[in-house]
Amino acid sequence: MAEQCAIVGGGLAGFTAYATLRHGGLAAAEIAVFGTDPDPAADWRRRADAIRQRRMRSESDGHVAATSFPGLAVRSAIRRRDAMPLVESLFDRYHPTVPEFLEHVAEVRERSGWKDSFHHRRIAAIRPVDGGFELDEAGVFAHVLLAPGHPGLAFPEGLEGDERVVHAYEPHDYAPEVEVVGAGMAAATEWLNALAAGAAVVSVRRREPERRPLNLPRELFTRRGLKGFQATSKEQRLGLLRSWSTPSYPSGRDWDEPVERARREGRFRVLPELNGGEQIICATGFKRGFRNDSLLAALVDAHALETADGWIALAPDSTIPGLTDETRTLSIAGVPGQWAFPAADTLAGHKYAARRFLRRIRACRTR
Ligand SMILES: Cc1cc2nc3c(=O)[nH]c(=O)nc-3n(C[C@H](O)[C@H](O)[C@H](O)COP(=O)(O)OP(=O)(O)OC[C@H]3O[C@@H](n4cnc5c(N)ncnc54)[C@H](O)[C@@H]3O)c2cc1C
Repeated sequence: MAEQCAIVGGGLAGFTAYATLRHGGLAAAEIAVFGTDPDPAADWRRRADAIRQRRMRSESDGHVAATSFPGLAVRSAIRRRDAMPLVESLFDRYHPTVPEFLEHVAEVRERSGWKDSFHHRRIAAIRPVDGGFELDEAGVFAHVLLAPGHPGLAFPEGLEGDERVVHAYEPHDYAPEVEVVGAGMAAATEWLNALAAGAAVVSVRRREPERRPLNLPRELFTRRGLKGFQATSKEQRLGLLRSWSTPSYPSGRDWDEPVERARREGRFRVLPELNGGEQIICATGFKRGFRNDSLLAALVDAHALETADGWIALAPDSTIPGLTDETRTLSIAGVPGQWAFPAADTLAGHKYAARRFLRRIRACRTR
């Protein structure tokens, strides 16, 4: 059978979808993946390396395989012959190491047949046609999942291009004194990295960061919690999504002690503005909103899709209403899918979109 579905974007969201489709019975020849790097972890690895991430932010089920179980805690317990990862996992305390996660990605990549479906190509346009979507001149596909990732790094106004500036998600070392702009997880990680490297740190922030174990309330990861979110009005949903995008990082001694010690030593202070330091690290995340992604922006404009602020209004199953019908599917995974699932930009979110995409394909096939 010819390729009948396509994934645009070959990062972790596209890859999780691919693994899910393969596990769900689709042959490699039925799926085309269009991406910019054959390694699905390439972008993630570069950013995680830049902030010297050692453990995953996610827990045991933060992986790319199709089924949630067995998670990475089981994998690690078997490998290490140690039940501790399982015990920690019971209390939501198990965070796999980055090497463990990357090894797992490499295994899934090898066994899923990814290389047979991957096409090195950036898709510039999507055109709905009868029974499917035309992707540039790459072909027509009945079911398409868009997983383009974040549309570039965000810098505070006036700082991009300044030679003292580096983004936290780009490789860097530390000057003797660094100013870290931001107040979320990447900023907190940078305070610790710079302090460990012997630097003095100025945390530049306009508000106190919130302390939350995950970016989002845990109940959103339950069926009931998510249903509640999806039942909200457009205005309420917008308010919730905005409130969850405020900077936060987890609480705990590992975060607080090094900072408190450095404060006492005079090596850590907080200022509301930049202070002329020799290195400025922008821990300011990514640009937000579909307008920053040319493919999504063109789609919204061409079909007058419903939007709210920077979000495309999706159906609960992550499909784009108006362009999805009983013969074809256009879905979104990763950060632009937050309207359907606020944690879309996590491995759990990648699975959410992937499973619903598979369900759609199956439903269309049985009609
Ligand atoms: C430092 C860091 C650590 C993180 N740690 C965790 C964690 O521990 N646990 C967790 O659950 N989540 C984590 N996340 C969040 C999330 O899992 C990652 O951001 C993940 O990489 C997102 O995957 P993605 O595929 O959506 O985007 P990306 O990894 O950015 O991949 C998107 C890909 O699509 C390509 N693309 C874009 N447009 C097109 C197009 N038109 N045609 C073809 N290709 C295109 C891009 O070039 C890119 O290769 C972390 C994020 C960061 C930044």
